[in-house]
Amino acid sequence: MKAAIYPGSFDPVTYGHLDIIRRAADIFDELTISVLNNVKKTPLFSVEERVKILKEATRDMANVRIDCFSGLLVDYARQKGVHVIVRGLRAITDFEYELQNAQTNRLLSRGALDTMFFTTSLEYAYLSSTTVREIASFGGNISGCVPDFVEKLIYEKYGIVKEAD
Ligand code: ADP
Repeated sequence: MKAAIYPGSFDPVTYGHLDIIRRAADIFDELTISVLNNVKKTPLFSVEERVKILKEATRDMANVRIDCFSGLLVDYARQKGVHVIVRGLRAITDFEYELQNAQTNRLLSRGALDTMFFTTSLEYAYLSSTTVREIASFGGNISGCVPDFVEKLIYEKYGIVKEAD
């Protein structure tokens, strides 16, 4: 069975992430999306909330599982018996960071863990969780960026009441 892990912050999940998830789930028999519990960051959504949101956003994808982890990705992947990491690439700025991570993971795992990159679909090339949080915090329109139920949850976090269209 071909399995892969798609790790990330997903704070919150965007249509850019969901596009990568759908495409990766078409290639692998099982895809585990794993929310990184990064103690150095103060997230908008807790790990538990992000896991719940991802479960809801991927409920129509039968071979997608949601999990979370902390610590080294290589250790987590070894425990799961998975040898492929999925990551998305938007621009050259992503590339440098992702290349370094991929090479480090290969080294730490002694060649057991490879990274497969999906290039962003052009319509989502500009999209990041950071941008979504920033726009939403000022009450801006994020409807083209995240699913409707996620949009509501984000505004709730910022205490913003949106009138129905
Ligand atoms: P990080 O894991 O760096 O905190 P995210 O959780 O936001 O970042 O993203 C997880 C992965 O998804 C990264 O590989 C990132 O490059 C990718 N990604 C995020 N947004 C997009 C997008 N719009 N198109 C393609 N890939 C994306």
